[in-house]
Amino acid sequence: MERIVSLCKRRGFVFQSSEIYGGINGFWDYGPLGAELKRNVKDFWWRVMTQRRDDVVGLDATIIMHPKIWEASGHTTTFADPMVDCLLTKKRFRADQIEPQSGVVYHYSGAEDSTDKAKTSSEPYSVLLAPGKNPDSARKAARQFYAQRGIVEARLLDERTEKVENSTRYNQENGSLLTEARMFNLMFKTYVGPVESAENTAYLRPETAQAIFAQFKNVADVSRQKVPFGICQIGKAFRNEINPRNFTFRSREFEQMELEFFIRPDEAVEAICGSVARPAGPGHPGEPQANWGWQMWHKYWVEERLAFYESIGLPRTTLVEYWQKPEELAHYARATVDILYKFPFSKRDAAGELAGEELEGIAARSDFDLSQHQRFSGKGMGVFDEELKLAWAKLDEAKKAALSQRYFESRRNYLVKTNEEPAGAEARAREEAAGLARGSYVPHVIEPSAGVDRLALALICNAYGEDTAPDEKGKMETRVVMRFHPRIAPVKAAVFPLLKNKPELVKKAREVRDLLRPHMTVFYDEAGAIGRRYRRQDEAGTPFGVTIDFDTLGEQGAELKDTVTLRERDSMKQSRVKIDALAALLLERIR
Ligand code: ATP
Repeated sequence: MERIVSLCKRRGFVFQSSEIYGGINGFWDYGPLGAELKRNVKDFWWRVMTQRRDDVVGLDATIIMHPKIWEASGHTTTFADPMVDCLLTKKRFRADQIEPQSGVVYHYSGAEDSTDKAKTSSEPYSVLLAPGKNPDSARKAARQFYAQRGIVEARLLDERTEKVENSTRYNQENGSLLTEARMFNLMFKTYVGPVESAENTAYLRPETAQAIFAQFKNVADVSRQKVPFGICQIGKAFRNEINPRNFTFRSREFEQMELEFFIRPDEAVEAICGSVARPAGPGHPGEPQANWGWQMWHKYWVEERLAFYESIGLPRTTLVEYWQKPEELAHYARATVDILYKFPFSKRDAAGELAGEELEGIAARSDFDLSQHQRFSGKGMGVFDEELKLAWAKLDEAKKAALSQRYFESRRNYLVKTNEEPAGAEARAREEAAGLARGSYVPHVIEPSAGVDRLALALICNAYGEDTAPDEKGKMETRVVMRFHPRIAPVKAAVFPLLKNKPELVKKAREVRDLLRPHMTVFYDEAGAIGRRYRRQDEAGTPFGVTIDFDTLGEQGAELKDTVTLRERDSMKQSRVKIDALAALLLERIR
């Protein structure tokens, strides 16, 4: 990982934000190559998720929104992580990320100053030592702890020891006791307008998804889309992470690419199609069908997203499809699959395999989100489904009763969970079940939610390679090569005149550069030995090198005139290509 981090800085993929002022923890800037990489990732996601589909449209909403949005979504109350501090160093950790440790704990009930008896502390303190470690190191840590409380020459009181197994109460770095966990809300607060008062408080969005729900009705009204359809968005999100770490993986400012795909409730699907299709086995379920319920749609999006990652060069073997266990699911979620990438810093499982870290979560979120916004805003979030109304009229009475009852129960469950009093919940749910019979419902949603920065980091880790290649004199040397998929490579082609001091070569090379430039990012370089120029582009991950040499000018025979050397980054193979065929050939390879 260190080599990757250093390459990122050296070649301008990622810099520390505000580096000249010592940096700011959890914030990163993308340099010239990183900016191109990120842009390519986002553009390709946008193309795949909306432009190439009939059933998904885009949105570009603001970062600061009405604070009620975060009440409705639950972020104001529950978007919090447990936080603990080291009692010795004050370093802060997320309590749920502390590694369990075993050993002997040294407890002290307090300390008194051996030179000044008036100075005492009755604050208890403990230190965990790994088995076999010298007890003096516990005493040293305890003296430091009490010294910070003004007991300079501490005599430790009531030392006692205790064996512990798998405790998460101690700092894994120094064994010191941690504070009790406190919940910490991760939203960044700010004020709208000049007065810093409670009523002017607003938040930087911690996710892009909520704007999609809040604008659902507007988008549905103007886009002529009917459920099932989706709305997607790419944009910045902010989380005041307690412990940003693993380079850009956990940052405080990052970008998300989210899709909310709205579907019919299963009861509506059954009314229209007679039954609800469910996944028959592993793999992609194929083209969407009218009889798909939430499980098929969820499976469909998991497979689509896995295919997306493969299509930009992350091999399936580097990805993990992790199905959250029932106890891990949010209360409204019916199923969530996390797509993990095996980062070099991932933990290893019992078999020594990298376990992977989350790139994306794909959640089946029921009708929770739109229902919440309906409740908090007082504006209806339901849709009218003509097909459902017509189909319902043709159902027999027993079927109508069964579907109504099921819909009633799921709506009542939602309302009760959101603390509506039972009688009110019952009445509302009855009304909503009657609405279903008239063709109205609140859509359910499947949410594939991915992080741009985590994906960029995965692509960088995956691309990084070292091999050997001959230098100018034919001597083998180590070559660092970023094997990005051409689709997302920051620069697609580098154009080089063989020699800088030959005006005909330079002129021709500039012509080739200008020919390619309308179609792709091109880097033009005329300085230094050609081998070194190739090597620089290998490190940048440029998949194609185009060299204009004397053959191009026709000096070695008319048949080679207006041809160039095309060099491929990964195989280092070189071939001759006609200039007028070059753009089409490269476009074919980078699309
Ligand atoms: P984690 O458990 O790692 O904190 P999460 O489950 O809270 O992530 P979601 O709320 O599902 O994440 O956000 C969707 C996606 O946004 C994640 O899969 C990830 O790619 C990205 N993301 C979330 N938090 C961060 C962060 N602090 N830095 C970078 N990307 C993030």
